[in-house]
Amino acid sequence: MKNLWEPADAAKCNSDLELRVYSSRLLGRDDTLVLHGGGNTSVKVRERNVVGEEEEIIYVKGSGWDLETIKANGFTPVRMTPLLKLAQLESLSDPQMVNELAANATRAGAPAPSVETILHAVIPHKFVDHTHADALLAITNTDEGEARVRELYGDDVIVVPYVMPGFELARVCARKIQAELKPSTIGMVLLKHGLFSFGATAEESYARMISLVERAESYLKEHGAWELPQPNDIGPIGHIGHVAELRRAIAWSAGFPVVMSTSSEIKALAFARASNLREISQRGPVTPDHILRTKRLPMLGRAVAEYAAAYREYFARHIRHAKETKTMLDPAPRVILDPEFGLTTVGRSAKEAAIARDLYSHTIDVIARAEALGGYRALSEEELFEFEYWDLEQAKLRRGGTPPMFAGEIACVTGAASGIGKACVDALLKRGAAVVGLDIDPQVIPNGQRRPDYLGVQCDVTSEDAISSALEKTVRAFGGLDMLILNAGVFPAGTPIESLASAEWRRVFAVNLDANLTLLRESYPLLKLAPRGGRVVVIGSKNVAAPGPGAAAYSASKAALTQLARVAALEWGAAGIRVNTIHPNAVFDTGIWTDDVLKARAASYGMSVEEYKRNNILKTEVRSSDVGELVAELCGPVFAKTTGAQIPVDGGNERVI
Ligand code: ZN
Repeated sequence: MKNLWEPADAAKCNSDLELRVYSSRLLGRDDTLVLHGGGNTSVKVRERNVVGEEEEIIYVKGSGWDLETIKANGFTPVRMTPLLKLAQLESLSDPQMVNELAANATRAGAPAPSVETILHAVIPHKFVDHTHADALLAITNTDEGEARVRELYGDDVIVVPYVMPGFELARVCARKIQAELKPSTIGMVLLKHGLFSFGATAEESYARMISLVERAESYLKEHGAWELPQPNDIGPIGHIGHVAELRRAIAWSAGFPVVMSTSSEIKALAFARASNLREISQRGPVTPDHILRTKRLPMLGRAVAEYAAAYREYFARHIRHAKETKTMLDPAPRVILDPEFGLTTVGRSAKEAAIARDLYSHTIDVIARAEALGGYRALSEEELFEFEYWDLEQAKLRRGGTPPMFAGEIACVTGAASGIGKACVDALLKRGAAVVGLDIDPQVIPNGQRRPDYLGVQCDVTSEDAISSALEKTVRAFGGLDMLILNAGVFPAGTPIESLASAEWRRVFAVNLDANLTLLRESYPLLKLAPRGGRVVVIGSKNVAAPGPGAAAYSASKAALTQLARVAALEWGAAGIRVNTIHPNAVFDTGIWTDDVLKARAASYGMSVEEYKRNNILKTEVRSSDVGELVAELCGPVFAKTTGAQIPVDGGNERVI
């Protein structure tokens, strides 16, 4: 645990709130302290309101903000006086508490203040930091958790038993603080939940957090529970096709498609293959913060049939409870541990699956260390169940809104680095799909910040091995394949037949035709498992209906590809897979239309480049984004009853019409 405080950076902060932002971000940078929006921080200040009265205000992290990237407007200002009065109440329902927090904010439109706001308010220190540090949880989530924490920290901290987050937790903490807080107290441990530190300055509160966590890490080291043995040889990994089958089973019972992310790193495999996995993994999540995002208990199993059985059992209880209490049910499990693959996490989007994966990866560390310390103990069944059907979480579910068109679905686009392929990627991402882009051009892999819903794979589609490997990566990253966009193609410079070399002919066919046969054949086992039915869109060409002189290899290869797509539509309809072809023309913002090719084509028709660009019935320019939008819509519900179609996107062409 490293103290990241830099006096030079801190000196640039001009207010308490800026310092609050600075040290919150330091906490957010360490994923063993807080992960994906977990944890929260606050600062208390005195401010003059619009009528000139001085008020005590607490700036507390707003919901939807992540400590790693939080800004000043991510903190919600709330009046302290009413918060302290609320803390004195004997009881208050959590929806009422949320209403009071929002109603006492002093900035209209500020985000909802954290549900832990009252808890922050009752701590009589200016700066308060709260994390769910892995090292602390490994200690508190054991049989003697409380005794160990007292041995470790002595009188430096107040120890609070487990209480579900919300008003009751704030009330219990307020009483503990009143009775036990001393000038020397630097923090507060919430058993099976997390750690608070506080101080007069941002630096003091932050440094206390780091030192408390450091002491927890040293404790684990002294007790042989820090460095854990990892096997070197992990043995073979299971067939990835089983993951796609599992995805279909889960999507069917959930009623919507899901994205699944699989990690077969040694740590995950070792955990999933541990002889006592069934026992240790079913004891519950490490902190309530993780419950809803990892779902309560991981699913275990080897065969799909076994998953299905366990899944039904899991549901029976939740459906019963939901009916009895008229509550909402979010039916997809979030974590699956499988000795064949390791760790698989599930989400309605790639982002959700990635969050669950990161949270559970930390859970594995905490469980393994707690086991080494004498035995992992998490929340009881009742505590978990209570939290899952918590009023506030139910409200969150109800607020969910309409998911995007392709939520939980996975698309693969070839030739994705530029032009039409890139436009297809953008149109599919915009509609909520997780997308894998293939291209021989390394540009297909974005540098800089990566997004969880896109995977770029450098791949020569004329290599069968490269295609198999790309599809395997697709399933590991997202769980299956619903939509295949066959776009990669070459458009050679004009050559009359009398001088067309056989090698050139074969090169064009290898990319424009043969590669697509391989892609179709290898994708079929995945497409037929698509929960909403597989979809294939083939990028043909106007040249199929209206070939041009000098483009023999291109026109013939696209005509053969169109015929291949028609046969696929006939053969695959029974498996629910739709195959449609679009025929773009004169899309000039693409990789194959270099300036030279464009000039040569225009000249061969006796036109200027500008005339050639709008040489269609509608006198309009066709852009790659127009093609991308059509491709995405062809995969959507509007075309749900259409297969084997050929649709031009060319501004209207006399020879085609
Ligand atoms: Zn917390």
